[in-house]
Amino acid sequence: MILIKNAIELQNLLAKQKRKAQKIGFVPTMGALHEGHISLITNSKSQNLLTVCSIFVNPTQFNDPLDFEKYPQTIESDILALEKAGTDLLFFPNQAQIYPMGLDQQPYYELGNLEKLLEGKYRPGHFQGVCQVVKRLLDLVSPDKLFLGQKDFQQCMVIQKLLTLQQSAIELVICPTLREASGLAMSSRNLRLSEEGKLKAALIYQTLQDLKAKLSIDSSIPQLLETSKLQLLNAGFNSIDYLQLVDPQSLEPITNWEPQTKAVLIIAAFLEGIRLIDNLPI
Ligand code: AMP
Repeated sequence: MILIKNAIELQNLLAKQKRKAQKIGFVPTMGALHEGHISLITNSKSQNLLTVCSIFVNPTQFNDPLDFEKYPQTIESDILALEKAGTDLLFFPNQAQIYPMGLDQQPYYELGNLEKLLEGKYRPGHFQGVCQVVKRLLDLVSPDKLFLGQKDFQQCMVIQKLLTLQQSAIELVICPTLREASGLAMSSRNLRLSEEGKLKAALIYQTLQDLKAKLSIDSSIPQLLETSKLQLLNAGFNSIDYLQLVDPQSLEPITNWEPQTKAVLIIAAFLEGIRLIDNLPI
């Protein structure tokens, strides 16, 4: 695996590959890699793409400075895991390589409701930061395909919107969420949970599955959601930003569900002060 820290060097090397008609698959990450991240690499490799991964903890997408400060960093084991997975190139830039003009005066992206609902509502500015870093990385890597995880459901929608706004030809490939045996969605933030917290966190997925099962027999969705929220709080969760059944296109809440209705159950909850998200398409 080639490790590159410099943006110009990265562009030059990838331009050479493109001239050889090599197609490029790109997996952007913030590091502290787990099997979920590696599944994106494997997916890209299975499509015979030159697979580029980036690791950059992007300051502009953190609305909570403490969350940024405490974001886990495990670069040595990340490099080993990426090598083992057969990654061709790791881009590991510092802040100056990503934001050469500084953090101020970043472009604004018109994201509409995506920025007002769910994550948008509870993490103001977060998706602007995500777009800023992804736009810069896509400009540098210029991939044919971009691999993202379904775990960050709304983020996938935001990036699809970004690609549309930019009239980009890059194809977005959304990969399934990898889970621990307990059902807990793998996440770098899980590293910050205690052993007891990890067990408790599995309640998130259990709650989504229970709700899915109950939807068909109980039509009072708001009441079902309220009961589930209370159960999580009683189990020791600090707070719940949202637990909703939403339309997967508009993200607007669904109040009348029928078996043919396309929907997604989506949640963000705090446990041991750590914000965890998950979702379950219905
Ligand atoms: P992050 O490092 O958290 O920014 O995530 C980098 C990419 O990995 C994003 O596209 C995530 O959606 C994806 N990802 C994170 N967790 C998982 C998971 N459990 N399963 C599949 N993909 C994931």
